[in-house]
Amino acid sequence: MAVRIFKFGGASVKDANAVRNLKEIIQHNNSEPLVVVISAMHKTTNHLEGVVQAFLDGGDWKPLLEQVFAFHLSTLDELLPAEHAETKETLAKIKRYAFAFLEQEELNDHDFVYDQIVSIGEIISTKIIDGYLREEGCDPEWWDARKLVHTDNRYRNAQVAWCETEERIEKAWKERKQDLVITQGFIGGGDHNRMTTLGREGSDFSAAIFAYALNAASVTIWKDVPGMLNADPKYFSNTSLLPNISYREAIELSYFGASVIHPKTIKPLENKQIPLFVKSFLSPDEPGSLINDNTSEDSKVPSYIFKTNQVLISISTRDFSFMVEEHLSDLFQRFAKHGVTIQTMQNSAISFSVSVADQGIKLQQLIEDLNKDYQVRYNDGLELMTIRHYNTEVVAELIKGKEVMLEQKTRHTMRILMRSAARQ
Ligand code: ASP
Ligand code: MG
Repeated sequence: MAVRIFKFGGASVKDANAVRNLKEIIQHNNSEPLVVVISAMHKTTNHLEGVVQAFLDGGDWKPLLEQVFAFHLSTLDELLPAEHAETKETLAKIKRYAFAFLEQEELNDHDFVYDQIVSIGEIISTKIIDGYLREEGCDPEWWDARKLVHTDNRYRNAQVAWCETEERIEKAWKERKQDLVITQGFIGGGDHNRMTTLGREGSDFSAAIFAYALNAASVTIWKDVPGMLNADPKYFSNTSLLPNISYREAIELSYFGASVIHPKTIKPLENKQIPLFVKSFLSPDEPGSLINDNTSEDSKVPSYIFKTNQVLISISTRDFSFMVEEHLSDLFQRFAKHGVTIQTMQNSAISFSVSVADQGIKLQQLIEDLNKDYQVRYNDGLELMTIRHYNTEVVAELIKGKEVMLEQKTRHTMRILMRSAARQ
């Protein structure tokens, strides 16, 4: 029987009650084999990033690391009021490792330190959940993703070695003793037994990796929203669910900045035609969203992706000669060098305009660099609205009272860079 993959993110395991809810969902679905990919609990990854930052700044990281373990111990106590010596001892061991690691003298590769510490979040969350599920009679098998998801050693952005990873996961599956497997999202293992991470919010991608390797029947991402919505409820009051979109549409939406699914998740699933469900862990019986190869529903509902804090940069040659290909190629290289991602671009005879998200220091360094050879003007505090499958009435409503700085249309997508009237 084909295996299914479930993925639970930080919000779905944020405290003891959330973990009890996860157990209910698993118990309701235990008629078929299941691999459950789990993230760090709640905001643990942010807190561990805080530990690393304090450590690198020469600050007092120890109380911060203590807090991370204190939170997990209290969650464990709540879940398992009786003796739970084994899980407690495991947490104590991981804690000793973390302290010992940071107390070493020579640690100067920041990204390396980050991965060795931040990956702990996923290890301890899955250890606690494993202990709890065993206590509840679910019989899970705990898999160490560091030994299965094989990566290079590009810390914080490790790249998956697919063939090796596939072999390892297939082998683990063949040799399994249980039909319920618990493992970690976000983390992998590089050469020399080093821990690596796949990039923030990478657990969705991990779920896709396990699904790909096991030719899974489906992947379900459990979230605190009813599924893929056509807009972020933070900015829009009338959001609606996208019941069924295609892999292609999901990739487009995440490219333009919709943040429901990690962008790297879709491709491996599309390659093997594995359907992806996005469902609410609060109402697990609702159908949620389905992402598969059906494109017929894609354009039924317009989707809105709204980004604040955008900057429009206009670049001209100093002598106002035409902007030609040599300039453009030089400009792209400078954007790439400073790691500034372009959102929209437009050119005229003498100027080239791009909009980017304001990324603080990175952007300032880019602008300084451009200023050496070009005339640069910029406007900040802008908003970028991307509308997939737009219609003109809705657009008119959305730009009411705004100053439109740039507008781009293709057949399916409209992008509007604007300033809200209040700021004029
Ligand atoms: N725990 C990691 C993060 O918060 C990975 C994930 O949640 O997907 O970024
Ligand atoms: Mg998360």
